[in-house]
Formats: sequence, structure tokens, C-alpha cells
Amino acid sequence: MKYHSTNNSSHQVDLKEAILRSLPPDNGLYMPNQLPVLGAEFWNTYRKLSFQEIGFAVANAFFGEDVPADELREIVNGTLEFDAPLIELAPDDHILELFHGPTLAFKDFGARFMARLMAHLTKDEDRMLTVLVATSGDTGGAVASAFHNVPGTRVVILYPKGKVSGLQEKQLTALGGNITALEIEGSFDDCQALVKQAFLDRELSERMNLTSANSINLSRLVPQSFYYIHSARQLPEGVKPVFVIPSGNFGNLTAGLLAKQLGLPVAHFLAATNRNDVVPEYLKKGEYHPRPSVATISNAMDVGAPSNFVRMQALFGNSWENMRQHISGMSFSDNETRVAIREVKSLFNYQIDPHGAVGWLAARAYRANHPGAMTITLETAHPAKFPDVMDAELGKSSVAIPARLAILADQPKVSTALTKDWQTFRAWLTANID
Ligand SMILES: *Cc1c(COP(=O)(O)O)cnc(C)c1O
Repeated sequence: MKYHSTNNSSHQVDLKEAILRSLPPDNGLYMPNQLPVLGAEFWNTYRKLSFQEIGFAVANAFFGEDVPADELREIVNGTLEFDAPLIELAPDDHILELFHGPTLAFKDFGARFMARLMAHLTKDEDRMLTVLVATSGDTGGAVASAFHNVPGTRVVILYPKGKVSGLQEKQLTALGGNITALEIEGSFDDCQALVKQAFLDRELSERMNLTSANSINLSRLVPQSFYYIHSARQLPEGVKPVFVIPSGNFGNLTAGLLAKQLGLPVAHFLAATNRNDVVPEYLKKGEYHPRPSVATISNAMDVGAPSNFVRMQALFGNSWENMRQHISGMSFSDNETRVAIREVKSLFNYQIDPHGAVGWLAARAYRANHPGAMTITLETAHPAKFPDVMDAELGKSSVAIPARLAILADQPKVSTALTKDWQTFRAWLTANID
């Protein structure tokens, strides 16, 4: 399969380049030249397949031309070492729990698949692959965990000093081995600027075999479509779900669109956001105005210029009318989100995190206007990741911390403090990584 840039369909690359380069040089995003469709033999039996078998069928539709089947199966099985349970709050109100991976957020699916695919694509090279990633919190943890102990790879994570939570910091700094954490005196934007600069430095970038692991990498999207199919088939036969996706960069929603493209029957998609409502506004008015993000309690969705928006547009032939037939947008305030966390607890005795709560609000509003709608709301992170909000709404220590998170609290933090100066960073890389 060949891949092209959304900015220029004649810029074509193979799988290895699309994955290791992550971003085309023209700043578009990579898309497969043909969007795969799964055939009748899959859709006739998919309700009986295991999660891993569904994952393999999807991965094979995208990557089967380039990756031998047995290796692809191993990549999928290594990714899906945990489940994504569908919880019924009410017969028309479902929650898809995507937080059963090692770092308690859905990003584990994409990061684990990407790590394994990258290791496969570079296995015949004798050079180490160096993954350089800037994080404001969750992504870095998922990427670090996914690449930890993957042979032939190492990860350098840049995070802003004092701006990630204590447990998030431990997820970045306590693993050791092939994971190195740099604590940058500056903001997330400063970290991202350093990473960008490193990629622009061709000599450095080639010598160190640098790759990025950000959320626009195609190999992070494909595995996220596995759980749309896995969850939909748990509904009664013949029922088409309305998927509700708490969104920031819109990778998760784009993965849902890929699942539909593969042939999954879907009634509708709901893009649920916090006050960062650039996409809901576009869906309503047809005008797209990216702007700086504002801080909210669902902070993983604080995105003002969603990076996957151009992929969504490409999937709908750049037509607003077309997109809004399949996706509706809704946004909610922090106050509404807090009330929803309490309501979900008191109505269903279920602890929903601030991101899932935004989705649940959208699902409820949609069902009120669409009788018979069956919603599946993606619960994107475990509530224990947001102790301040959960304690404030449900009472102190109301959410039990899963062992895999709690264990990190006692691990020592190992990181290197650096200023945000490019030359300092470059010198550190040259001295410490080669
Ligand atoms: C990253 C993230 C989101 C947003 O997902 P996108 O794919 O960027 O839209 C939502 N919730 C949580 C908990 C996240 O970590």
C-alpha cells in the first residue's frame, strides 16, 4: 500500500516512510491511497470473533500487503493484552471503557501498536531507532510504556517542569531502561518546539535515526478502530450504535470513521468537546476557526487546532454537508461536566472521569432528541487519573487507584533537568544518545 499527503496526493511514500516519518514534509497528514473495506465474510462472522481476531482483520486490511500475517498477528496480540469492556448504564446508554491498559487511557492502544509496528519496520537495521516525544501528560506516559524494553528502540521524552501531575511524571520518569525523561524549564510548547527543531536538523535527525510518536501517526489511528467494531457487536443484533467521542485532536473520532469505512454499521458520530469547541462550531456553522486552547478540567481535550481535522475532511471529500450528515458536535462547560460526574454516580453508581462525562452529556442530549438511539460513549481514561476533580465531586479518596498506577508512586523519579535552549538540548542529545 502507498500513502499520500493530504496536501498533495502525488507525494507518495511506502508504509515504512509514512510510519517513521509520521508527518509529510509538506505538513499535511498521511492517508492510505485506498481506504480498505472488509468483505462479507468478515461481517457475517464478526460478532463471534475475539477482540484479537477483529484487531488482526482490521490491521491486515490496512497493513497486510506490507507486513507478513504472522508478524502482524503478533503485533496485534501484543497490543491487545487487555480488554475494552462495554458497560450498560441503561439499555440505551453504554460506556466503552478504554482505560484497562498500563497507563489507564485509550492512548495505550495506539502507542502499543505503533511501538510494535515501528520495531518490525526497523528490525533489519543495525541502528537504534530514537523516538523523540514532547508531552503535556498522557501521551508521553503511553509512549514510554509502549516502547519500554522494545528491542532496537529508545525513547527521549520532554516534559514541562511542574506542569504535569505527580503520577503522570512518574509514568514518564520511573521506567528506566530504554526510556529517558528530560524535565524542561519551560512550557509544553517549548518542549514541542525543541522536538520540532531536532527534526529540522537533518544531520542530527539522520545520525540519531529520529522518529516521532505523536498522535498524527497513522499507526496510532488504525488500532483505535478495533474497539469500535469490538463494542458495536456486543449490542443486540441489528442495532446500529451512535458513537460518542470525547475529543481533542480528533484521532479517536477519525478511527471511528475508519471503522465505518471498513463496513461497520454506525448510526451517527457525536463529537463531544469541552469549551474548546472548534469542531462543534464548524459542524454547526461550516466555519473553521482554530484558536489557542483554554484550560479545562478535561485537560486532555484542551486543543484549539485539532491535528486530525484535515483527515476528517479528507474522509468526507472536503464537504461540510457530507461531514455533518455523519457527525454532530456538542460542547459542555466545566460546571456541566462536574454536575454530570455527580449525576452518573448517583443515577448509576458509576464513576466517570471528566472526559467521559463530557461524552455522557452529549449522549444524553442526543438521545433526548432521537428516540430509539443507542449510544456508546467512549470512556477515554480511568477516573483515578484525575484525583482533584473526582475528590471534589465525589468526596475524598472515593476513587480507588488501580495497582498499576499506585505502584509508580513509590518508584524513584529519574530525569534530567534542562533549559529550553536549543543548543543545550542538542549538546545533551549528542553527548548522551548515539
Ligand atoms: C487524548 C485524550 C482525549 C482526546 O483524544 P483525541 O484522539 O485527541 O481526540 C480524550 N480523553 C483522554 C483521557 C485523552 O487522553
